[in-house]
Amino acid sequence: MPIKLFDTLTREILPLEPTSPAEPFRMYCCGPTVYGPAHIGNFRTFILQDVLRRALELQLGKQNVIHARNITDVDDKTIRRSGEEGLKLSAFTQKWTDKFHADCEALNLRPPAFEPRATDTIAQQAALIEKIMENGHAYQGKDGSIYFRLSSYKNYGALSHLNRDELKTQDTNSAGQANDADEYVRDNVGDFALWKARKPEDGDNFWPGPRVNGQPVEGRPGWHIECSAMIDDVFQGKTIDLHGGGVDLCFPHHENELAQSMCAHPHDCGYRFVRHWFHSTHLLVDGKKMSKSLGNLYTLDDLKQKGFSPTAVRYALIAGHYKKQLNFTLEGVAAAQTALEKIRHGLSQALKEFNAPLDFSKLIAESAQNETTSLLCNNESFFWKAFTDDLNTPKVLGELFIALGQLKENPSVDLIKQIAFACYGLGIDPFADADEKAPAQIPEDVAALGAQRWQAKQDKNWPEADRLRDELATKGFKSLDRKDGYEIVPL
Ligand SMILES: [Zn+2]
Repeated sequence: MPIKLFDTLTREILPLEPTSPAEPFRMYCCGPTVYGPAHIGNFRTFILQDVLRRALELQLGKQNVIHARNITDVDDKTIRRSGEEGLKLSAFTQKWTDKFHADCEALNLRPPAFEPRATDTIAQQAALIEKIMENGHAYQGKDGSIYFRLSSYKNYGALSHLNRDELKTQDTNSAGQANDADEYVRDNVGDFALWKARKPEDGDNFWPGPRVNGQPVEGRPGWHIECSAMIDDVFQGKTIDLHGGGVDLCFPHHENELAQSMCAHPHDCGYRFVRHWFHSTHLLVDGKKMSKSLGNLYTLDDLKQKGFSPTAVRYALIAGHYKKQLNFTLEGVAAAQTALEKIRHGLSQALKEFNAPLDFSKLIAESAQNETTSLLCNNESFFWKAFTDDLNTPKVLGELFIALGQLKENPSVDLIKQIAFACYGLGIDPFADADEKAPAQIPEDVAALGAQRWQAKQDKNWPEADRLRDELATKGFKSLDRKDGYEIVPL
């Protein structure tokens, strides 16, 4: 049963499969612009893409999915901020690329197979722009920059479902005032910059670009052309099976990528740029749009400082469906942390039933192996059904709690393996960065102290219970008490 996913262009839920069974599934996601720490809205998109990639790997086999995600390391913001810090652009963007990688690792995002950087593919971008110009879809404006001629591409607006009659498109007559911003709104559509001619404020950050009349135009790329060129470079000009990004990238970024890439090819060659467009919806924080001025723009570090684990943050970010607006709140992350504790507790109880201690994290890792996959990834699995149902992550989490209920009634290794499989797909290891570890790691003397303390509590011998609590603490453990029992966990 293949994964079915909503496609932005056709507005249909369609199965995800490679172009042909002999080919890998080619997946490209727009990556971060590295001028500061990514915020949780960015990470929600990357985490959902990671879940999708994991599910695709379960469906097709790990080696049959190629995931590329770029690094945008040149634009107005990176140039301005590196100047303010007195750093070379490359040193500045490397610093924030490293930070991005560290956050990704903490959030259990698997690194992409390819991670091209915009500044490493300037030559490919220039070549692509030359092709677009040759095909009559671009021109040099009076300011020296090279613009895409919107009126030359009749399908412009199809992806973001713009009404073409409403487009206020410019033509070459207004080229001098053409729009060289990378981001703009739907009612301000105009010819957009493929290549920005060198300006004094760019400092040393310019490259020899596409040639016009045999002469390279010095400057730097527009944002949109970077992705078109990197996709061609990584996937050797082949159609990609899926292109992903946050919904804010649909227009103008993806619309422009699509126009450029189509216009770099002859009209009648039957070329297709992307088979499936995957956009995840915006995040609200405390019911409002995230913004610096509202003070609700959280980074992973902000949340870690508030005592939340990266696993809880990941959990909170996938607790809503990717097509629905998720309202992120601190209460929501706290609830995710509690949910993770419940999962750990349920699993710990069940794992205790088996004489040989089962390592749940190892079971998760094994879920990704093909022989296990064929066993689990079938039509019988409720987890798999939820994954394939338009990447329904909240449903997978719901099924997980149903399974935990069943596990309490009837502990079975098969069911534990099924849960491990769901955890692999979601990228959530309940034991990963928790205070608690799996039960097998509690030393015997500590377990004995825990039992004595519980007994003292049952006997209402409070001073003794307190004394034993302190003794547990000196050994680095504490007891989590519940109505019907307790659990010893590291402090
Ligand atoms: Zn992009």
